[in-house]
Amino acid sequence: MALIVQKYGGTSVNDDERIKIVAEYIALTKSKGNDVVVVVSAMGKQTDQLIRLANDVSTVHPGREMDMLLTAGERISMSLLCMALSELNVQAASFTGSQAGIITDTVHTKASILEIKPDRILKALNDGFVPVVAGFQGMSVEKEITTLGRGGSDTTAVALATALQADVCEIYTDVSGVFTADPRIVPNARKLTALDYDEMLEIAANGGKVLALRSVEFARRHNVSIHVRSSYTWEPGTWIKKEEKDMEEALVSAVTHDISEAKITATKVPDKPGIAASLFRKLADKSINVDMIVQNTSVEGNTDISFTVPKTDLETALNVTREVLPQLGGTEVLADSDVAKVSIIGAGMKTQPGVTALTFETLAGCDINIEMISTSPIRISCLIRKEAVEQAVLALHAAFNLEATG
Ligand code: ASP
Ligand code: MG
Repeated sequence: MALIVQKYGGTSVNDDERIKIVAEYIALTKSKGNDVVVVVSAMGKQTDQLIRLANDVSTVHPGREMDMLLTAGERISMSLLCMALSELNVQAASFTGSQAGIITDTVHTKASILEIKPDRILKALNDGFVPVVAGFQGMSVEKEITTLGRGGSDTTAVALATALQADVCEIYTDVSGVFTADPRIVPNARKLTALDYDEMLEIAANGGKVLALRSVEFARRHNVSIHVRSSYTWEPGTWIKKEEKDMEEALVSAVTHDISEAKITATKVPDKPGIAASLFRKLADKSINVDMIVQNTSVEGNTDISFTVPKTDLETALNVTREVLPQLGGTEVLADSDVAKVSIIGAGMKTQPGVTALTFETLAGCDINIEMISTSPIRISCLIRKEAVEQAVLALHAAFNLEATG
């Protein structure tokens, strides 16, 4: 008998039929003698629809009200799922994030979990219930309703699994696991059986959409094993866990791509101490996550700085840059949204030379220009033109022999 946290994403609970199917699987898991805690996302694209409604009524979206609005999505799915479970004679009770004891900081729409007080969940389990918890939400230390940022239900699930010391955190989605590349671009991409936390962090941070980045950070910090799997086929998926000796250290595990960033270039910036510091401090103060950065060698005491930011933050980042840099004289600030980042990720590259060379050669062979480069010990990322992204992913996937074998 085990304690299992099962998280069902939006597609898994898309409609009444899906909710009934999920209820049956929960009932089956429970009938095998396991304790089950369920975390749900909002049904289908409900969160997007709620955001659209907000846009329809106003251009002003106070964080507090957005959080109040968006948390409604998960309330619908959690209560419906409990009813479907009752129909199957499984005792179930729904809990909002705040009822489940998920305490966050006060940053509306992007709150971080500070603490979990799972008393009510534990009591429900003890009483033989299946607790069904609304994902993506919590209550701040000031007793306001907060959300954890898009995709935050994964984080709720991992955090609950930590607090409850669950044996496993199962994340159910519409794909059967984490693949060597996006199967929509690479038809012969292969499902990975296991990944260590570092690789999964790099995949999640560089365009792999299967798991929210923060949930992986949380899992790594607390050593929670995650099993990503399909709620359509229920077949074994991908395990994300601490690196074990018997885990093969693939030279390259995956190729990811990300078209969600834009590039900002500031030209003729004086090449002297403190300039980059003041620009990036101001961006940080606006909670903008800067990703890649390139500064050219200076010509006549001036240089160009290019960096990438999420497209959703582009306008704010441009405003900040335009505010900071002109004081320095002669500066022009340019924005470019037609960029894409392709990344090669693999724990084995730490010790193996040649991965960078093959990456660059492969892109060169496709006549694709590299505009920016960034690396970590287990990743190489290149910024390229957006229209070349599919070609780049296909070529790199083939160059590193990642395709399905047999
Ligand atoms: N419903 C939220 C979203 O769509 C949270 C989640 O799905 O994890 O972002
Ligand atoms: Mg969702």
